[in-house]
Parts: sequence; C-alpha cells; structure tokens
Amino acid sequence: MNKRNVVYLDYNATTPVDDRVVKAMLPYFREKFGNSGSDHLFGWDASEAVEFSREQVANLVNCKPSEIIFTSGATEAANICIQGYCESNRSKGNHIVTCKTEHKAILDTINSLEQRGFEVTYLDVDKAGNIDLQELKDSITPETILVSIMLANNETGIIHPIREIAEVVHSKGTILMSDITQVVGKIPVDLKDLNIDIAIFSSHKLYGPKGIGALYINKQNKLSIEAVLYGGGQEKGFRPGTLNVPGIVGFGKACEIISLELVEEYSRMESQRNLLEDLLDPIDGISFNSKEGKRLPNTSSVSFKNIRGDQLIRKLSAIAVSRGSACTANTQKPSHVLKAMGHSDELALSSLRISLGRGTKVDDIEFAASEIKKVLEILKTVEA
Ligand code: PLP
Repeated sequence: MNKRNVVYLDYNATTPVDDRVVKAMLPYFREKFGNSGSDHLFGWDASEAVEFSREQVANLVNCKPSEIIFTSGATEAANICIQGYCESNRSKGNHIVTCKTEHKAILDTINSLEQRGFEVTYLDVDKAGNIDLQELKDSITPETILVSIMLANNETGIIHPIREIAEVVHSKGTILMSDITQVVGKIPVDLKDLNIDIAIFSSHKLYGPKGIGALYINKQNKLSIEAVLYGGGQEKGFRPGTLNVPGIVGFGKACEIISLELVEEYSRMESQRNLLEDLLDPIDGISFNSKEGKRLPNTSSVSFKNIRGDQLIRKLSAIAVSRGSACTANTQKPSHVLKAMGHSDELALSSLRISLGRGTKVDDIEFAASEIKKVLEILKTVEA
C-alpha cells in the first residue's frame, strides 16, 4: 500500500479499515444512530446490530456471543479483567505470573497491581522468545491467582504453545489469561480448543475501526471479576457507558470478512514474508529474531549489527516500519522484548519490526528490501 510513495509495512501497529467495514458502519452514524440502550425503534435497531456483531466476533474465535464484552480496545480489556479479577480474588492469593515479553498493556497493568502489594513473577524467555514450561510450572504457587501469557508476540511474531501452557496452569489450579490481540485475524483462533479462561483482542489489528475491542470471559468457570469502571451497567457492568455502535458493527463485519479470507491470506502473507527474508538474508551482520520458532505469518523482526538504529529508521523514510511496538517505538528506548531475548541495547535499537498485511504486494516487498539494503550501504559508508 502506497501513500506519498511510502510503503506501509507496519500492520502489527494498526491496519486500514476495510471498505466493506466502512460501508457496514456508515448507517450507524446517521440514520441508525440510536443508543442501543433506548427502548424504542432507534434503540432496538442499534441493539440488534450490536448483538449481531457480537455473534460475528464470537464466531471468529469460537466462543459464545454471551462470552464477549465490548471494550474500547485490548488495553482497556486488559485493565478490566486483570485488575477486576485480581482484586476480586485477593483473598485466595496475591501472586501473578506473567512474562517479560508481554505487551505494555499487560505489563503496566500488572505493574500497577504490584504497586498495590501483589507479588509478580516475570518469566524469562530464551533467545528465540520462548518461555520454559517447567519454569512456568515451578513459578506457580498456591498463592498464584492468575497467569497471563500472550498467544503471539507483537514484535517478533513468536507463537507461545498456549494449549500446553493452559494445561500446566490448570494442573496447578489457577487460571490463564491470554492477550490474543496480534493473532486474531492472522491465524485461526479457537478459544475453546486452546482452553483459555480470559482473552483480550482488538478491532484495529484486523481491518476494523480503532477504539473498539473485546474481552472474552469463559462462562463455564464462573470467574469472579469485580468492576473497575462504574456507570450505566452496560456490557454486564464490566464496561459501562453508551456503546460505540458504529465501532461494534465495524468490528463484527471485520471479523466476518476475516473468517472467510483467513486461510488464503495466511499463505499469501507467509510467502511474501519469506520472500522478504530471502532478499534481506545476504546482508552482512543481519539476524532474524525468532525465525526458528512458530511465528505469525506476517511478521519479521530483524537486527543489524554495528548500525546506528536512530539513523536507520530516519533514513528509511520510504517504508513505514517500526523499531518496537508502536506504543514504545518513538520513545527511543530499546525494545523490552528484544532485551529479554538477550539483545544488547545497541542491537535492540538497530532492529526493525516489519509486518505485512492485506494491502502488501510483492512489489512492496522488493522495494522495501532494496531500500533497506540501500540505507545500510549509506550508513556503513558514513560510519567507515
Ligand atoms: N496487546 C498487543 C499484543 C498489542 O499488539 C496491542 C497493540 O499494539 C495491544 C495489546 C493494545 O491494543 P489496543 O490498541 O486495542 O489497546
């Protein structure tokens, strides 16, 4: 996808809204603008649309519509469930287990609980970004009330063996929450099969609008989660406030489209990502992060030895890629994910996350590879 001749390869940060999604949303801004809580024709229209979308979202991840709570995004969903569950279950224990490479939406929420007296174990990862299942098992004590491990990492794309993780977590009598934000829409997700208790995800990562996301709570476990937000009781009291009906309709439509196109998209993205890595492979001093593991099909994380990261990203102005996750990318801090995988600050700073999507063409990949090579040559000459 080109904008002023810039190739967009940052689909893990966000995606453009699909035209079909925009079309589905438009009536809900004007002629069907009703508040889904109103008891008249306008409200009924809106509420019917919300429930239809809830089914579309639930279908994509294989859960019951009643297990989906609409939120403003994955970050809000993480705050609602982590804070609400931990505060509500504090009498059972005050220990939480998570991993050093989680997204800040999780780490900062858990950190706020740590400030309030919870104890937290942050699991290490190996060079490829994998956690050790035995270490996970050993870290869970009778005091552990929650384990939070993401399904796939937003920077490297590495996929954690969540079904096995759930088995370990359940065998030790606690529950698993998983951030599945980067996975939904890229590979099939079956929440029942994965045996996850709580999950969070977001519409803007899958060609839906921004400002809408979902919290999944497995109904079978009858989990006790106290409210952290207060208001009109919408979304079972977990996310009170007037519902974002156009956003919800767009999210639902985006999920429906993905469920029809996912398999084809998967192989297209994977072959383009592999082409990109083949083209970059001959570069001196290049290394691919998490390449040996099971990865998302659209994500490539690459590091370049002896290159100034700030100059690299500035000179790569013809392609939109990121250095870490979008939320931390402009802070100039080395990625906490790559550091946890053993990178030095310097190498973490001279790393790129390249993420492909629906609009990516083979031409874009070839262009991006040649731009990266060109810029590296310039930087090497300047530094020599
Ligand atoms: N979790 C992961 C893995 C993400 O990649 C992101 C977005 O960058 C989030 C959570 C936060 O999502 P949202 O922007 O919907 O709050």
